[in-house]
Amino acid sequence: MTKKLNKKIGSLLLLIFFVAITTLLQQNLSGKALADDRLVVWIFDVGQGDAIFIDALDGQVLIDGGPSAEILEKLSAVMPFWDRSIDLVVNTHPHADHVTGLNYVLERYEVEEVWVSGQEYGTEAFAYFEKLTPNADTVFQGETYDLGEGAKLIVLWPKTSLNNMLLDDVNDGSITLLLTYGETTILLPADLGIEQEAEILDQLPHIDVLKVGHQGSMTSSGLDFLKVTTPDVAVIPVGENDYGHPSSIIVERLRSIGAAVLRTDLDGDVRIVSDGHEPEIRIFDL
Ligand SMILES: [Zn+2]
Repeated sequence: MTKKLNKKIGSLLLLIFFVAITTLLQQNLSGKALADDRLVVWIFDVGQGDAIFIDALDGQVLIDGGPSAEILEKLSAVMPFWDRSIDLVVNTHPHADHVTGLNYVLERYEVEEVWVSGQEYGTEAFAYFEKLTPNADTVFQGETYDLGEGAKLIVLWPKTSLNNMLLDDVNDGSITLLLTYGETTILLPADLGIEQEAEILDQLPHIDVLKVGHQGSMTSSGLDFLKVTTPDVAVIPVGENDYGHPSSIIVERLRSIGAAVLRTDLDGDVRIVSDGHEPEIRIFDL
């Protein structure tokens, strides 16, 4: 063997080693190394906005993309580097802190299915999103998405189709998702308002983890809603802002019903892993 060939083999071995280590690290992050029947949910720290990634047995789902391109770094950190496709992307409502990051994702990933609230909204970011997703499905109560092994996403809101509708406040048309896997329940109400929360109370079970509505604003997380759902853990995705989010009244209200409160700005990226029983929650700095 020539020296040159030896060097080539050496480089190749180094590359294989690197790929193996990266894969192991990523498997650990995605939780898949633990067991094949695990459901992994990330509530990312993407500043002031929502971005939630579900890595399930039968698919990957991204719910909103936050306000910037930062979502790309987060996805790279938790997805294998060869994986350039996402099964379902959901835009809960057209506000910039939910849709802007999705545009970066849609430009770079192959996305099989897109769910939208159907509402009209006149911003450049949302117009671009609509251009990128000509075949998006308007979803409402009753729609479900099968994630395998009995895990599923259930649409609780909007109650009826909002296709081409103009609401006074687009937050009120937020796609609200209940994620269930065995005994595990996770509620993702986007920016749903208190009045709309009241309309789905009869469909809400006890919730293990609540993604707190609208960055912990006073417009979400009504006391009745919290008393019915009694979340064990409440995660507030929030960044620097001029709105006073999260409201100290809401943080207190969450604690008063017994929830442990996590904030992405103070705690970081939140990972929830479930095997169908009590979920395990850990904090990362991706
Ligand atoms: Zn909003």
